[in-house]
Amino acid sequence: MTVYAGPVFAMAANQFNVIANHLEIPLDERARLLMPKRAVTVSCPIHRDDGTVAVFEGYRVQHHLTMGPTKGGTRFSPSVDIGEVAALAIWMSWKCALVGLPYGGAKGGINVDPSKISPRELEVLSRRYMQEMIPFVGPHTDVMAPDMGTNEQVMAWFMDTYSMYQGRTVTEIVTGKPVASGGTLGRREATGRGVAHLAKRVLKELSISLNNATAVIQGFGNVGSYAALELHHCGLKVIAVSDHTGALYRAEGLDIPALIRHADSHGNIAGFSNELHFDPAELLTLACDVLVPAAMERVIDAKVADNLKCRVLAEGANGPTTPDADLVLEKRQDEIFVIPDILCNSGGVVVSYFEWVQDLQQLFWEEEEVTRREYHILDRAFDHMVTRSKVDKITHRTAAMAIGVEKVRAAKKTRGLFP
Ligand code: NAD
Repeated sequence: MTVYAGPVFAMAANQFNVIANHLEIPLDERARLLMPKRAVTVSCPIHRDDGTVAVFEGYRVQHHLTMGPTKGGTRFSPSVDIGEVAALAIWMSWKCALVGLPYGGAKGGINVDPSKISPRELEVLSRRYMQEMIPFVGPHTDVMAPDMGTNEQVMAWFMDTYSMYQGRTVTEIVTGKPVASGGTLGRREATGRGVAHLAKRVLKELSISLNNATAVIQGFGNVGSYAALELHHCGLKVIAVSDHTGALYRAEGLDIPALIRHADSHGNIAGFSNELHFDPAELLTLACDVLVPAAMERVIDAKVADNLKCRVLAEGANGPTTPDADLVLEKRQDEIFVIPDILCNSGGVVVSYFEWVQDLQQLFWEEEEVTRREYHILDRAFDHMVTRSKVDKITHRTAAMAIGVEKVRAAKKTRGLFP
């Protein structure tokens, strides 16, 4: 029993055990690789607009510090607990190692529904959370980024709060900031673009013409909307999208630029059209070429996996597919090409790394260079994953995670156990 116990941590632990068995990692080495190095829980009291005081619980988990600072997003959601945050930190570690970044994984969050607090309350809560985290984070210790429920503005408040306490501007403390505050060009689009880039690559390898292809996207936030836009620009028809308010379907393809304009001004897709409404429960099992889950964890269970009718499953969200579903997908490998989350959505952390490097050097790149380097790293990791999967006769997810786990393991081995 650990403080992390819960369904999301169990899923991360279960996946790790599959990899550890495959790599024949001795039992006494496994806990050192899996269990987080540090976890902190903080209380964040704020004054509500009505004058009362409310206390929100915040978390940060740093999985390992073996290869450099830790890196990971901050999630504001009512589902957040220490186990979910720990699982997300662990996935970040395998992801950073897979794509070759000098980071361990981290994740943080506050148990709050950001749509239920005012903009002023969101700002004071964000600032209070960062202030509580100051003893635990730093540009060479742990670097935060956005995740579900947070955005560039929240990162700017984090950076400002940290900087005020240091007495100087420390842009490199967070990534995913506005460009005006030391962010990089191309970060906002990076995760969705990366998802679309890899999905297109697989379509080409499967000889499916982009112009006749269809896509379905669950979640229309940062990842989902930019993945949809990039696929739309490449000629695919995005036939269905959903968010927490509902789903839209149009067989001829939705007008994605118009939908993004609507979501930007209204905060969600509700009210875009009355005719295109669709049952969100049926979205994941629609027939399509590319399915992008880009909302939350564990939406594809064994039953959904059995009913999937996509050719490519491009996992934009973290942990959208349960281990039971993986067993089903393993049997359906010839029908469905899975691009696992730790590769598929890694464009976000890759460009976050570029942002950190640019902030440390105070030397900024053109957007074309950011995107070119992002795609280069994604393509290299994709090649490694596919080769490993073929050589070892294992699934893409097992191959991707095995590469990540192996790199962390090798770093721990060569550094040794202190003291
Ligand atoms: P976001 O908050 O910008 O968007 C989340 C979207 O999911 C919203 O459109 C929301 O309405 C929708 N959603 C919530 N509940 C839903 C439901 N029940 N059904 C359908 N849609 C629902 O978050 P994001 O940054 O786009 O992150 C989405 C996922 O991608 C998360 O799993 C996150 O960890 C992962 N991710 C994000 C990044 C990044 O750079 N933002 C990088 C890697 C992975």
